[in-house]
Amino acid sequence: MIHDYHLHTYFSCDADASMEAVCRAALAQGIEEIAITDHVDFTPQDPCYMYFQAERYWSALQRCREMFGDLLTIRAGVEVGESHLYLEEVRSLLSAYEYDFVLGSLHWADGRPLFRESFFDGLSLDDGIALYFEELARLAEEGEYDVLAHVDIIRRAVYRRFKKRGLDLRPHEARVRRVLRIVAERGKGLEVNTAYLRKGIGAPGPSVQVLRWFREEGGRIVTLGSDAHRPEEVGLGLDRALAMVREAGFGGVTFFRRRTPVGVVRIG
Ligand SMILES: [Zn+2]
Ligand SMILES: [Zn+2]
Repeated sequence: MIHDYHLHTYFSCDADASMEAVCRAALAQGIEEIAITDHVDFTPQDPCYMYFQAERYWSALQRCREMFGDLLTIRAGVEVGESHLYLEEVRSLLSAYEYDFVLGSLHWADGRPLFRESFFDGLSLDDGIALYFEELARLAEEGEYDVLAHVDIIRRAVYRRFKKRGLDLRPHEARVRRVLRIVAERGKGLEVNTAYLRKGIGAPGPSVQVLRWFREEGGRIVTLGSDAHRPEEVGLGLDRALAMVREAGFGGVTFFRRRTPVGVVRIG
């Protein structure tokens, strides 16, 4: 497996694994490059609000880089929630250290949590989806990120409220394409996230259909992430994600260094 660019350690409020354990798990899976993307959240309702400690994260990262040397390339990352609403805080955080990779995530839209069924309180399925993609467009346009994470995260709330495992986004094509166009025009990327597999919500996402739309809108940068919160989840389902990227017609998967795409590993 070529990389895993979405991993959590105990520097995230919802994970217990040490960075060393996550690195060992990556090596055991035959993964040569990872990005440790712990949660950074400035949204007060979020469980991880103000939890991230950059100094401790960086000292663990340096230790792991020394420990694993050439065996494993460890990129310094963060997964920033709702960065478009907290630009000043986010930029100050990112300027303090040399991060390689920033995932942009939407976990809340209009005060509603995308990971809980209460997201849909008082909303129909279609109204909830519309509200989600409107807010995602704002993040895509104004936010600080390199790659937009789990763009179909609303599947989690859909699954919990409506017991639906898949989500056909074709009825919302215009809204979704608008987000993808903004991402492409800004020269940013899209992630294929495999966490849905371990959560029993279905295939990695977004779907091949959405990946194709991204390509048609000019998108060229794609990364893969297991979104592992435990060592045993590292690398899970990335082979399937890679097959989807290939099926959508992308020639490769992009790597980052110092927040710059540094190359593409060909998958053709
Ligand atoms: Zn997330
Ligand atoms: Zn995550």
